Amino acid sequence: MADFIVLVKQVPDVKQITDNAFDPQTGTLIRTRLPSVINELDTNALAFANYMKRISADKEGKIIVLTMGPPMAEDVLRYCLGRCADIAVLLTDKALGGADTFATANPLAFAVRKIVKQILNSTGDYYIVTGMQSLDGDTAQVPAQIAEELSLPCIAYATNAEFKNNRFELTRIISGGNQLVAAKSTPAVITVAKYEYPVFAAFAQARRANALQIIQWSADDIGAPHIGVAGSKTRVIRVFPPGKSKRSCQRMEDVKKLARTLAQSLKEDSQQSAQDKQTADRYVISKKRKVFYDRSFESTDSEIEDFKILADKLKQLGIERIEQIDEYTKKQILDTAGEHFHINALEDMLTGLESTDSSYQGEVWVVAEHHNNKIHPATFELIGKARSLADSLETKVGVCLPGDSVKPMADDLIAAGADNIYVVADKLLAAFDPAVFRKAVADCVKKHQPQIVLFAATPRMRMLAPMVSYRLRCGLTADCTGLDIRDSTRKGQIGILLQTRPALGGNVMATICTKDSKSQMATARPGVMKSLTPDPSRKGKIIEHSLDLSADDMSLEILKTEHSTGRVDFAADIIVSGGKGMQNRDNYESLVGSLCQTLTEKLKVKVERGASRAAVERGFIDRVHQVGQTGTSVGPKIYIALGISGAIQHMIGIANSKTIIAVNRDPVAPIFKNCDYYIVGNVEEIIPKLIQNL
Ligand SMILES: Cc1cc2nc3c(=O)[nH]c(=O)nc-3n(C[C@H](O)[C@H](O)[C@H](O)COP(=O)(O)OP(=O)(O)OC[C@H]3O[C@@H](n4cnc5c(N)ncnc54)[C@H](O)[C@@H]3O)c2cc1C
Repeated sequence: MADFIVLVKQVPDVKQITDNAFDPQTGTLIRTRLPSVINELDTNALAFANYMKRISADKEGKIIVLTMGPPMAEDVLRYCLGRCADIAVLLTDKALGGADTFATANPLAFAVRKIVKQILNSTGDYYIVTGMQSLDGDTAQVPAQIAEELSLPCIAYATNAEFKNNRFELTRIISGGNQLVAAKSTPAVITVAKYEYPVFAAFAQARRANALQIIQWSADDIGAPHIGVAGSKTRVIRVFPPGKSKRSCQRMEDVKKLARTLAQSLKEDSQQSAQDKQTADRYVISKKRKVFYDRSFESTDSEIEDFKILADKLKQLGIERIEQIDEYTKKQILDTAGEHFHINALEDMLTGLESTDSSYQGEVWVVAEHHNNKIHPATFELIGKARSLADSLETKVGVCLPGDSVKPMADDLIAAGADNIYVVADKLLAAFDPAVFRKAVADCVKKHQPQIVLFAATPRMRMLAPMVSYRLRCGLTADCTGLDIRDSTRKGQIGILLQTRPALGGNVMATICTKDSKSQMATARPGVMKSLTPDPSRKGKIIEHSLDLSADDMSLEILKTEHSTGRVDFAADIIVSGGKGMQNRDNYESLVGSLCQTLTEKLKVKVERGASRAAVERGFIDRVHQVGQTGTSVGPKIYIALGISGAIQHMIGIANSKTIIAVNRDPVAPIFKNCDYYIVGNVEEIIPKLIQNL
């Protein structure tokens, strides 16, 4: 009998975020200004578990919902009990608060162990079902880390299940297609990317839900070793509002003007994409700085300011070496700069100044991703970034290249800027099984101890990175859009990696650093970092890393892989994408099709069709045309989005486009806040007019 443990989370309702929901000083979200709701993808997970139960052999399994949060998180458990859950467990304790994903996965895994022992009588036939990611954190790390803690197979991005041959076979999304897989053993973790058949609250069930008692456990009850802020492997340095979109977001009323602008944008091809404008403020290692108190590379502006004031004082006092600072010097500093910092802060700063060596040693690494013997473009982007980080830190760029017969790809990695290629080759790495890959990569990282390990935030790597980092007890920051080397001198941390990422659906930005870890790890958003122009004359070293892998390491049986058969040329100058707003396949075909044809004929450029995931799932066009997080990242001269709302997972994939033009009938469609030109209107009216004017 299969039982189901569904993990749910209470999140602020980011769809209702208003400008006054943020503290204007700190940019942080004032939680009380927003209603809390159940994370949407977790409702999908609940419905998915219910569906799995219904199609299972005996249909008798229990559905147990588990959440970790404040006492008010009981609401989401009642929501689940009112639908199809049988039992609810609330893990609540102040000591669990402020946790990062590592210190969230750890207690949740321990709570699962306790559920299995005490409620499921130690059965081995259960599934942990979760939403792929939560709307607030958006990291997608916790489910994979729970799988790692419990040594379970993890099937990510599931969209459907069938019960066949006395087991569950799951359909899941992979880049450019679908895959049918089965876990080689149970229990297993399943993360749901989408399931559109919600369970509604029935009257009788809802009444029962209110009467049911929720099991409440504290941190002591589960005995997890890594909890709360203390158990976390990352630390938030600052939270700030995202800068206004660097795109012009210009509304156009006149289709004729839009047609003209479109043609002009193509000619100009000038504006760098918004993401291009990353600052290249190169870090200098502290030993190379002229004076010991030069601390111009602190993590926050206020720290830079404080150290500037301190530097001025030390200069005025003629101090040239740290040993010259005595109690009298400190008094002199405080007498004149006392309004800026307190004695304790001064002591911390002076102690920090004694640290000159980097807090981390070793190379800067990228874990390579490849499909069909071709390196994924996001790997080259990361090598570009790794090169500049490594040059700042005066170290080398290493690439971990796991797979079967992957050595021939090493030259491309060296040409892209890498120095050392760590090849982990094994037949068992021919197809992507997260359990085998994480063993291979973790073993290689453990042996060579790089100080930084970067993964692309692609579906595959967002699964692999949390497993590797959890296994090695290292911090991991998801989906970074900024990576810089800085100091946190006051905390004695020198040459650390600052990892900046959007959170709360892109409504805030957070800068995070790693703590209590041997390596600093991050996944970085594809399309944001810049690859270098390949230099085939570059020389590098290939280092073979061998390890024992056996069939027992495999966690999945891959039953069928369907890659879209269609061919697509996303290197085109213009991509015209249709979304759910195209309504149906015929509309997509006639509107997107005819606009593509007109653009090709009139502007004499290459034009390709794209689509949102919603459009692909409705069968408007083949999956190979999907743009976005689980599709392809594109960077054409002009991206035209028709009837696409602008969900973050879509926008990630078009960030590198030089000009973005959007047509949407909703005047407050999110895409309008992140495009260059837009028209509010119905695609059925606007597109024929645009074609006419072109
Ligand atoms: C883990 C994960 C990965 C994902 N990966 C991707 C991905 O790779 N790519 C992707 O695109 N999505 C992805 N998604 C899904 C994403 O969250 C959105 O659901 C999806 O992008 C929405 O597609 P859409 O904009 O076409 O549909 P909707 O969000 O439904 O928007 C349709 C838009 O059309 C407009 N509209 C309707 N009718 C008309 C009309 N007649 N004329 C003009 N406008 C009209 C509406 O105003 C609306 O704004 C992912 C989600 C998850 C959870």
